[in-house]
Amino acid sequence: MILLRAPPSCGVFIWIVGPQPILYTFAMPADDSNSPGPPKIGLFPGTFDPITNGHLDIIKRGQDLFDRLIVAIGTNPAKRSIFSLEERKDIISELVAEHCGPQVQVDSFEGLTVDYARLIGATAILRGLRNVTDLNFEFQLALTNRAIAEIETVFVMSGEAYGFTSSTLIKQIAAGGEIDRLHPLLPPNVLARLKQKKQELGGTLPWKHVDHLTGE
Ligand code: ADP
Repeated sequence: MILLRAPPSCGVFIWIVGPQPILYTFAMPADDSNSPGPPKIGLFPGTFDPITNGHLDIIKRGQDLFDRLIVAIGTNPAKRSIFSLEERKDIISELVAEHCGPQVQVDSFEGLTVDYARLIGATAILRGLRNVTDLNFEFQLALTNRAIAEIETVFVMSGEAYGFTSSTLIKQIAAGGEIDRLHPLLPPNVLARLKQKKQELGGTLPWKHVDHLTGE
């Protein structure tokens, strides 16, 4: 019996030498340990108005799951923003430069997340989960995105310290109270920009609760 190792994708050939030589081929899983395959690109979309320590925690945990992770700021018509798209991009870029590896990049997009995901060739969308309340909405979003664009969503649980942090609550507190109180929940550059913004706007911040689903 002669055993020949065939190219990895073909499996193994066994040639039994007898009166009548027979060639058997067994399919084997391809040994592609040497071929890296296409890079795994993660997309972490959000409004990030402002980015919180909770978001940053998800970015830090998620960055090792992908070859590249794009943190992309989208415009959410259901949410009224304090910071402009450019301001948010600056803030997040400063944080990524300080806390993340070179595989994390910052971008912004208009329109549907799934269209942007297709544009950048994303392998999966990364989302953070704080609690079971998030799960309801995120589950619906993930299934819809899979149905309309065949894209998977990967969930990362937030660190215990940030399970209650939301940009919406932060805006509410910042608008009505002392911004320094928010220091356990916000990166220092966000605290500084919030204070500056409030001062520029004469001690107020544009905050209004808007329902996720109704937009009211
Ligand atoms: P969106 O408008 O898309 O919900 P957000 O900026 O509010 O944008 O949130 C972006 C992502 O970050 C979502 O997956 C959200 O669940 C997650 N996220 C928000 N706050 C936290 C937090 N404190 N801990 C973990 N994940 C969070």
